[in-house]
Parts: sequence; C-alpha cells; structure tokens
Amino acid sequence: HCPVGALRERDDVDKVFDALADPEKITVVQVAPAVRAAWGESLGLEREAATVKRLVAALRKMGFNYIFDTTFSADLTIMEEGSEFVEKLKNKENNKFPMFTSCCPGWVRYMKSHYPDMVDLLSTSKSPQQMFGAITKSYYAELLDVSPDKIYSISIMPCIAKKHECDIPTINDTEADKDVDVVITTREVDRMIRAEHIDVANLEEEEFDMPLGVGTGAGVIFGATGGVMEAALRSAYYLVTGENPDPDAFKEVRGMDGWKESQIEINGTVVKTAVTSGLKNTDKLIQAIRNGEVEYDFVEVMACPGGCSGGGGQPIHLGQTSNRVDNLYKLDKEANLRFSHENPSIVKVYEDYLGAPMSEKAHKLLHTDHESWDMPLSPKFD
Ligand code: SF4
Repeated sequence: HCPVGALRERDDVDKVFDALADPEKITVVQVAPAVRAAWGESLGLEREAATVKRLVAALRKMGFNYIFDTTFSADLTIMEEGSEFVEKLKNKENNKFPMFTSCCPGWVRYMKSHYPDMVDLLSTSKSPQQMFGAITKSYYAELLDVSPDKIYSISIMPCIAKKHECDIPTINDTEADKDVDVVITTREVDRMIRAEHIDVANLEEEEFDMPLGVGTGAGVIFGATGGVMEAALRSAYYLVTGENPDPDAFKEVRGMDGWKESQIEINGTVVKTAVTSGLKNTDKLIQAIRNGEVEYDFVEVMACPGGCSGGGGQPIHLGQTSNRVDNLYKLDKEANLRFSHENPSIVKVYEDYLGAPMSEKAHKLLHTDHESWDMPLSPKFD
C-alpha cells in the first residue's frame, strides 16, 4: 500500500451499483472463502456475528439477484486439479514435477515473468473465481434459460490481483464477453454496505442461493495457506484409493510458516509436498528446486503471507491474518461436508453438464494455458 495514501487500488463499486440498477442485467455474485473471515472487521461486528449468512442477507438487501459461494468452485478446482495431479503421478516418468498450484493470480503472474522457463509446471486448472465465472455463463445460463450476455457476473474477493485475472484475454471461455465481469474486494463490499446504510448487526442470517451456493469445508480452507494442498490431498487420496481419509489426516500442511514440507503415502506411493506463502519464501523455494537441493511432487504457492486471509483486498488490520485462518479451519471442522468430491452440487454439475473431471468440456471451460511473458523493464530514474 502507498504509505501516504496517494495511490489506491482501482475502485469498481460504481460498476456494481450501475449493474444493480440496470433492469436488463441479471446480477450473479460469488463470495470467496476468505471474505467470510474478514468482512465484519471494518463494520465493527464481532467474529461470531460476522457470519457469511449475514453477508448473504446484506447482499440480498442490496438487490443482487443470485448470491452464490466461491467455495462451490473451490471444490470444482479440487476435482480438476486433484485429477490432473493424480493423472501426472500415474505416469511419473513422462511428466515434469513439481506441479504448482495456479489459483493465485499474484503467484501465476510472478512465475510467468520471473521464471518463464517453468510455466509448464503450473497446473492448467483455472482459479475458483474463473471456474465460477465459466460455470455461471454456461451451465447456470442454461438452467436460467437466458443468453450468457444477460448475466452480469460479480466477484467479491480478498484480492486485488483478481481484478487483473478476470481481464486476461485467454481466461474467458464461454460465449459471453467475459466470464467474470467485475471484481470487488472485501473492503469495497464493506463500503457498499455502508453506503446503503445497512444495519448488518440486526440482519437475520440468510442462505446462499442454489445450486451454486453449496460448498464444503475443503473449499472453505482455500482462504488459508496450505488449504488448497490439504483439500487436494483429501480428494486425491479418494481418487486413488476409492476411500476417504480422515479429513484431518493432512493437517501437517497447516500453520503460518512461510515454507512447509510434508510427505504423505497414498497406496504405497510417497507424495512430497511443499506449501509456501509470500513471494520471498517462494523465491527461496524455487532457487532450492533449481539448485537440486529439494525435490517435490506438488507445491502450493500463495503470494500473500498466510494466503488469501491476508490478501491485499481485506480490511487493513495488522495481525488479523492468523485469526482469520483459525476461523476458516473452525468452519471446516464444523462443516457437514469436508470433501470436495462429496459436494452434491459438484456431483450434479458433472452428471448433468461436464461429464467427468478433465473431460473435453471441463477442459474447455475450466482449464487454461499459461504463457510466459517478458518482464517489462523497470523505468530508469536519473
Ligand atoms: Fe490474491 Fe493474495 Fe490470495 Fe493470491 S494469495 S489469490 S494475491 S489474495
């Protein structure tokens, strides 16, 4: 952040208010996992009161037509990314490792510009935000029986880099112009709530809409460092063995350390994993891989220290990230569903629309190619 406040991130609140006021537009909003852990902070709500269901009630009061949960598409990301990893592992000799996660656009952009020779190690699975946009403007448009262009897709994220991600030309794969039309941050949605004078403390909790409002505990922990890895390992274990592991079997990957390692065994195969957050730690890890000092099969990278809970779009309160992370793990522990592959809406979207993970249709809508690009030269100052 600019220390004197002269520079601010792009403010897209007006675009969202304009869409809400336009009777021709069907507004579909998604709420990212980490937003639920932080949205109440700058509105003076206690953590217990700042539930995601109360945020849903506030969004409905503002006039959003359909309110959904990015946790749904975090589960979808796990189905695709977990299957991609298992397929690579089956044919280990002919594939390059490690596979890096690709759901953090800050990290993906960094990889493309700083390590262009390694971009083929990135998972081709899109991020939950972009998978959500693609499903909204294909499957959900069909369910509503409307043209995808009628839908205005809004995303509430803990992240400023997501504003860039939805504009990447190669990320849009539906028949609409853009799969996600606009991204606002947690801070921006808080400003909207204030501008509308909504008394959130006295709102009754409300449910997400169906069917894209169903998510599991595995999807919720996407908002914490290590969460994507843990969710992926839960489902990868199931995909290989046909049985669920203990949902807490991979908790070694939790915690706020910037570089964590673990080894797990699935059906006799040892899988070496690493989790990093913060690009300084990531740089060290990549150098160690390049120097042959470490070897991994699967690596999760999040650009922000602590993962999305500490994202650049969250309310700015120092020292809050680990509280938010704890909150997400608590929500996971309390969830009825803790495995992405058991999400009934995920099962249905594959049965009715996509076929299977990594199918041709899933590839078209849910995967992307990562191309390296030259780092722009820094301006020179005399
Ligand atoms: Fe965005 Fe930071 Fe999360 Fe990456 S870690 S997706 S940059 S909030």
